[in-house]
Amino acid sequence: MYLDNAATTRLSRRALAAMLPLMEGEQGNPSSLHSYAREARKALERARGQVAQCIGADEGEIVFTSGGSEGNNYLLRGAIEANRDRGSHVITSAVEHPSVLNTLRALEKQGRIQLTVLPVDGYGRVSVVDLFAALRPDTVLVSVMLANNEVGTLQPISSIGNLCRERGVLFHVDAVQGAGHLPVDVQALRADMLTLSAHKFHGPRGVGAAYVRKGTQVVPLITGGEQEKRRRAGTENVAGAVGMAEALMEQTEDMEQEKERLQSLSEQLIGGILSTVPDCQLTGHRMERLPGVVSFLFEGVSPDELLALLDMQGMAASAGSACTAGSNEPSHVLQAMGLLNGRRCAPLRLSLGRYTKAEEIDRVLDVLPKTVARLRG
Ligand SMILES: *Cc1c(COP(=O)(O)O)cnc(C)c1O
Repeated sequence: MYLDNAATTRLSRRALAAMLPLMEGEQGNPSSLHSYAREARKALERARGQVAQCIGADEGEIVFTSGGSEGNNYLLRGAIEANRDRGSHVITSAVEHPSVLNTLRALEKQGRIQLTVLPVDGYGRVSVVDLFAALRPDTVLVSVMLANNEVGTLQPISSIGNLCRERGVLFHVDAVQGAGHLPVDVQALRADMLTLSAHKFHGPRGVGAAYVRKGTQVVPLITGGEQEKRRRAGTENVAGAVGMAEALMEQTEDMEQEKERLQSLSEQLIGGILSTVPDCQLTGHRMERLPGVVSFLFEGVSPDELLALLDMQGMAASAGSACTAGSNEPSHVLQAMGLLNGRRCAPLRLSLGRYTKAEEIDRVLDVLPKTVARLRG
């Protein structure tokens, strides 16, 4: 039972098949001047066009990266640096991924920006009214994620985007957890910058894309050669970009259907767990959530013991975030939601994907209640 798709997903067969011809045999460097290079360049540019099309962008607005963390670093650091004359106040939310929150905190510590971190409600949602109140004449950038990776809550992105546009403030969206699972349209979301990562939607690990709206100034993070129109130096990961584009197209083609299937499996999990496990609460928003992510808090259970015991029974889940596993810090997301009041409790995130089967959900509903009861002794 693989229920950790929010941490990473299985590479789809279609993506793998698209990548294989670019990984075996002679391959050209897209910057070289021979036929191998031309083939590589063609494959890369086709992939760029496909990714752009899936999110309502132009191909000139897509920069391939090594993934979500690089994308967030590039867009945040690069936009802040390039737009210093517009102000140095930045607004984000308390539930962002560490690649956003820690990056902005580091810039704040260096005195490069002044940072406002918006609180969230008990469901993990940012309030547009709070954002309105936080905007200052020197606010240059707002960064809010599309969907939270620990609890699955969706943010009111287009309302935030509308407000930013009205006030002439740049708007960045970390869409890593939502893309490929929900429709992402940079026009409807009013995003100036947006981050994607392939391995969260059944593409390969180590490749992603940054969307930069035409006219938005962003200084490169990785300097060197002239690849990616001088926006990101380094020999391109052509196979990765092709795999990413193929996976995103595959997810986009049957998105409605897959969304409904995952929503129904999630509902089954929520209903089944809440009705069979005492002292357990659903975390995150009941409706405004990712179709395939459900998360809970179990009172009086140790998180590590719960995950270990589940793993022994063939169930791969997570306490909420792969990035903070192993550190004993409580989740900053659950903390911001006001759910951890010094109580001993175990967060559990079950994240579903394209390859999750209904039988697995039945197994979980059999294994989990027994395991929690056993741990409570
Ligand atoms: C996974 C994730 C990232 C980081 O992406 P990587 O490709 O693993 O670096 C960023 N933001 C969110 C919301 C994520 O879920």
